[in-house]
Amino acid sequence: MRRTALVTGGTRGIGRAISIALKTAGYSVGANYAGNDEVAAAFTEETGIPSFKWSVADYDSCVEGIKEVEGKLGPVDVLVNNAGITRDAPFHKMSPEQWREVIDTNLSGVFNMTHPVWPGMRERGFGRIITISSINGQKGQFAQANYSAAKAGDIGFTKALAQEGARKGITVNAICPGYIATEMVMAVPEDVRNQIISTIPVGRLGEAQEIARCVVFLSSDDAGFITGSTLTANGGQYLV
Ligand code: NDP
Repeated sequence: MRRTALVTGGTRGIGRAISIALKTAGYSVGANYAGNDEVAAAFTEETGIPSFKWSVADYDSCVEGIKEVEGKLGPVDVLVNNAGITRDAPFHKMSPEQWREVIDTNLSGVFNMTHPVWPGMRERGFGRIITISSINGQKGQFAQANYSAAKAGDIGFTKALAQEGARKGITVNAICPGYIATEMVMAVPEDVRNQIISTIPVGRLGEAQEIARCVVFLSSDDAGFITGSTLTANGGQYLV
């Protein structure tokens, strides 16, 4: 039977690559996004993958959005929590709003999306929750107290929930990408980017497709014994 996968932030960057890779692997895919209608429309036109607009930072919108997706595509078997934002600032300049926005999207967003799909996965005895954390949640990063806290929180969430899902056929895993060549990273000034690349042993940024392939594997039946894990994909930049 064809499984359904829902990818948050699935129309751009890493999420776009994940949506396409899951479709290619045979899943019925829905891609959520926050507000960039033009990109989402072009994505749907190009890939045939329907896109759904709501903010993962709002619980009620997630409940409604997931209902809409399930009405069109069937129950969500695979949830990829990929949506994420940065609001960088050194801590002494970080505003409470910058803190809240990042926590609301990158950490509470993961709760808001996982909580509504969890009961159905438990009932059906199968589920995959895959959350895109970050190298900076593992090692911390200057000017990213908000982002590093949220991404580290995603790893704790994953480890805790994995224990609850294990007997119900639900695996819960996190992926920690290093620096991937998406808009988020290409927005970093070139000299800073080159400095970052010099710290990556493989000598290059990662590709979104390299993260997408990790997601396809963790979604599969073959990965049924892997739960509560953190898959590090960072070109050797930080070894855990
Ligand atoms: P992009 O900025 O390229 O894309 C972000 C996506 O998330 C967009 O589709 C955006 O929608 C969506 N989004 C943002 N906020 C919300 C929200 N509140 N509700 C729903 N969707 C939202 O990001 P990347 O592809 O670079 O990053 C994807 C994930 O990978 C993030 O979680 C990021 O933290 C993580 N990551 C990225 C790394 C990198 O090097 N790029 C490294 C490590 C981790 P819209 O288009 O409408 O704005």
